[in-house]
Parts: sequence; structure tokens; C-alpha cells
Amino acid sequence: MMDGSSNSKPQGPARPVPVLTSTAPYGATPSAAPGTAPLVEFRNVWKSYLTGAEPVHALRGVSIKVYPGEYISIVGPSGSGKSTFMHILGCLDTPTSGQYILAGTDVSQMDEEHLAETRNRRIGFVFQQFFLLPRLTAWRNVELPLIYAGVDRHKRKLLAMQALDHVGLTNRVNHFPNQLSGGQQQRVAVARALVTEPDLLLADEPTGNLDSRSSADVLAMFDELHQSGRTIVLITHEPDVAAAAERVMRFRDGRFVQAEDTAA
Ligand code: ADP
Repeated sequence: MMDGSSNSKPQGPARPVPVLTSTAPYGATPSAAPGTAPLVEFRNVWKSYLTGAEPVHALRGVSIKVYPGEYISIVGPSGSGKSTFMHILGCLDTPTSGQYILAGTDVSQMDEEHLAETRNRRIGFVFQQFFLLPRLTAWRNVELPLIYAGVDRHKRKLLAMQALDHVGLTNRVNHFPNQLSGGQQQRVAVARALVTEPDLLLADEPTGNLDSRSSADVLAMFDELHQSGRTIVLITHEPDVAAAAERVMRFRDGRFVQAEDTAA
């Protein structure tokens, strides 16, 4: 179980790095062991919106690989394309062109039904707003995705309790959201995101509503999840938060411009 007190860098075995390809000038060299398959692969992904006379290119040829067990953050100024990237990464939207391969399956052209199925099975989301249901206790909130997944009642409770244990909230399972601190509420949201055992934890500004102490607490939890082998992509506009990840990917004008290894 986590106590949330650790803020040390992950010490696990060397992990393969995210890869930038020719569309970005500062690409990192892939160090994945031969045969290691990426969990996520974007190949020259464009996303364009037609709102006025001129198309807006929110993503301009994004290529990236994320390997299982990596913890990366995406940082960039407002309007640089982070949300658009996250929507496609989270199977909430599809590219205008290019390919997105998730766990070996091309999801770029999936229809909404299959996309939703993939999203529910493979992605756990954490948002700036915790989106907890106020009238449900912590464990009842955490079991919700399992209800949608058709898991029986007994197993739901067991899995919800385990997930809350993993985020250090064993003694808060029967609390309502308004009886929990911001940091604890975000922990519940993380437990809810992980209870279905998704391949990828996708966190969009997860500390945006938290004071600095709670932010540090949540980031310490992410560190521990990373050490336990989770694959995490964290999107933020705050450089301090981004630096908590193993590697920082910087967005500007719809593409990655830089890769930084923070695991010094
Ligand atoms: P960020 O999350 O980094 O602030 P976004 O991905 O939201 O960036 O936006 C990238 C660009 O795409 C911006 O110029 C934004 O105005 C534009 N954009 C995003 N979504 C839409 C949309 N639905 N329709 C038109 N333009 C959009």
C-alpha cells in the first residue's frame, strides 16, 4: 500500500524512452529492447478543424511511441494542441490523417462504438475536476466503471476496496467526497480510473485544482504507480508538475519540439 509520502524518482529498471521521429527535430533515440512492442504509437497524426475559411491544424504530424511502464508528461502552452492530443490518445476522438496504434490495434478509423469499447477497456482517465458523485461513498464511486463493465456485485466491492487500498485510502472507503480533502478526492478518482486495470492511465491536469501540498501528494502517488509498472501519460501546463515524470515531451504549435529526460 502507498503512504503517499514518497517523492523519490522511480528506481526501476531502465525503460525504453518515448520516440520522436522525423517530424520533430529533437527526437530521442529509441532504447527499447528488440521485440518490445509500444503500447501507444502515433504515426504522423494530423488533426484539423474546419471552422472558418481556413482549416485550423491542431496537430501537425505528431509521431510518438510510448512503451509499457513508461511515465511521460506532455507540456506546452495553451493552444499548442495538448487537449487535442489527449482526446485522440484517450480514444475520445480520431485523427484527420495518420495512424494511432493502441496495443497493436489501429484505432485511427474506428467507429464510435468500437472506439468507446476500446476506451473503456484500455484507458483510465483522471481529470482536473475529480468528477466524483457526491451522494456516493468513496468505494461506491470506485465501483462505478465495474457496473458498466457488468462485473457482479461481490467482485465489484472487492476490486473497489483493493483499488482504494492501492491509493492509500483503506481507512476512507466509506467517506463521502465532501468528507475528503482535494488530494484524497483525486486519489479516489485515480482508484476509479485503475479499478478496471486499464493499460494506460491518462491524467489531464490532475493537480490543477489542488494546493501545493495535495499536488505533491498526488504526484508521489503517480511515482508509486509508475514504480509498480503502470503506464502513465500526464498532461499539464505546469513545468513543475511535468518534471515529476520520467520524461517530458514538449508541445508547440501542434507538434513535439523537444524531449527531456528528467530521470537524472
Ligand atoms: P491546448 O490543450 O494545448 O490548449 P488545444 O488542443 O485545445 O490546445 O487546441 C489546439 C488548437 O486547435 C487551438 O488553436 C484551438 O483553437 C484549436 N481547436 C481545438 N479544438 C477545436 C475545435 N473543436 N474546433 C476548432 N478549433 C479547435
